[in-house]
Amino acid sequence: IPTITVIGAGLAGSEAALAAARAGVRVRLYEMRPVKMTPAHRSGNFAELVCSNSLGGEGEQQSKGLLQAELRSVGGLIVGAADASKLPAGNALAVERDEFSERVTRAVRDHPLIEVRGEEVTAVPEGIAVIASGPLTSDALAADVARLTGSERLSFYDAAAPVIAADSIDFDVAWRAGRYEQSADYVNCPFTKDEYLAFFAALEQARAHTPHDWEHLEFFEGCMPIEEIARRGVDTPRFGPMSPKGLDDPRTGRWPYAVAQLRQEDRAGQLWSLVGFQTGLKWGDQKAVVQLIPGLQNAEIVRYGVMHRNTYLNAPEVLDATLQLRADPTKLVAGVLAGTEGYLESAATGWLAGTNAARLALGQPALVPPAESMLGGLVRYLATANPKGFQPMNVNWALVPELPAEVNPRTGKVRKLGKREKRPIMYRRALDAFTAWAHDDAGLDVARPVWPA
Ligand code: FAD
Repeated sequence: IPTITVIGAGLAGSEAALAAARAGVRVRLYEMRPVKMTPAHRSGNFAELVCSNSLGGEGEQQSKGLLQAELRSVGGLIVGAADASKLPAGNALAVERDEFSERVTRAVRDHPLIEVRGEEVTAVPEGIAVIASGPLTSDALAADVARLTGSERLSFYDAAAPVIAADSIDFDVAWRAGRYEQSADYVNCPFTKDEYLAFFAALEQARAHTPHDWEHLEFFEGCMPIEEIARRGVDTPRFGPMSPKGLDDPRTGRWPYAVAQLRQEDRAGQLWSLVGFQTGLKWGDQKAVVQLIPGLQNAEIVRYGVMHRNTYLNAPEVLDATLQLRADPTKLVAGVLAGTEGYLESAATGWLAGTNAARLALGQPALVPPAESMLGGLVRYLATANPKGFQPMNVNWALVPELPAEVNPRTGKVRKLGKREKRPIMYRRALDAFTAWAHDDAGLDVARPVWPA
């Protein structure tokens, strides 16, 4: 039986190890805790939840609910342990955290094909390996990953700007254009002087009641948080990332007083990030400030800006959608290190990386789930997102293709479905495609999931 290596028994690594073992290969799983702890973990248990105890909203309206269902259909370890340790939490999958981690630890340790080694890995090993060492990867391993991928492709801090769903932008106000004669790659949101001053006042207010742990970090000028730029004076944002230069507003024919620009994040153009708006503001304040930007008054923020320690690769520059490193396809990456964000996303990429590592070891080709599925959408995003300013991504509905427009055959009119109407359809489309793929391509018995352990 061939052997693969998995580094890290967190959310991604535990799932990867069990998926590979179930596929019939031996797994050597390295976990450095409790011998060497990270700044956030408290125990030696596998899949410890370092902060919230929720794995996201459940049900057909929720993108996380869909990802949970996809993982359930293939007997996913993390979702199975979560279901078994569930606490009442409205529509969210919240768990009793110690019980949850203990279940995961037991399922992994008890598997006869998994050998656990309690030590730190300091260099990427020989042979087929899944690197799932997470946002707090130890320094020695991070240095070796950087050597393999190129150091400029490994980040140690997340300084992310909010990402907005395209269909929530008001194009009666915003317009597409580039500065001066450049191609129309940006969405521009124009401010009058009064609108700008109201926005600035809200930004200052929000900054005043946000904790500033990250202020001890040294920022490159290029990724200074917007609230920090605002601290330097009322005109500083307007002469920096909010400059209106070269942008003729089609409604006035003139440059506005200030402009907020959005840059495309995904190939389908469903996700747009605010340029130069990396921020550590509390989420409620962030939403209020963003919605003061003209054209974004109804903005749906699919990923909030954050500022914190985070080790992650620039996925679109280094990874294929199979989660293999382009520089060395025998190495797969999963979890936050692979450019995802969130417990469930880490588990999902862990499952795929573990499955693919086993397939490679058994001489089979690596797989990518279908584009309609949430996992398929996520890994395609990782491989093809805009690498400029790439930030780790949570799952959301904009990662899967829109439904085709419904045309009334009698009138010829196109009917646009509302969110609540279309999401259950997208949910079923995704789950059907995913389970068919898991059965036909991955050869899994989806009718008889392997959990509970
Ligand atoms: P981890 O779960 O951290 O697993 C990585 C494992 O690798 C760890 O057990 C670590 O000890 C081990 N390891 C590291 N280096 C080595 C090495 N060299 N050798 C051997 N083992 C090693 N997401 C949410 O969904 N909700 C939240 O509330 C949330 N809060 C977060 C709070 C903080 C402070 C951080 C840093 C992240 C948070 N995240 C949250 C983001 C992310 O979802 C979690 O960090 C998640 O645990 C990531 O899964 P992972 O498998 O990539 O990493």
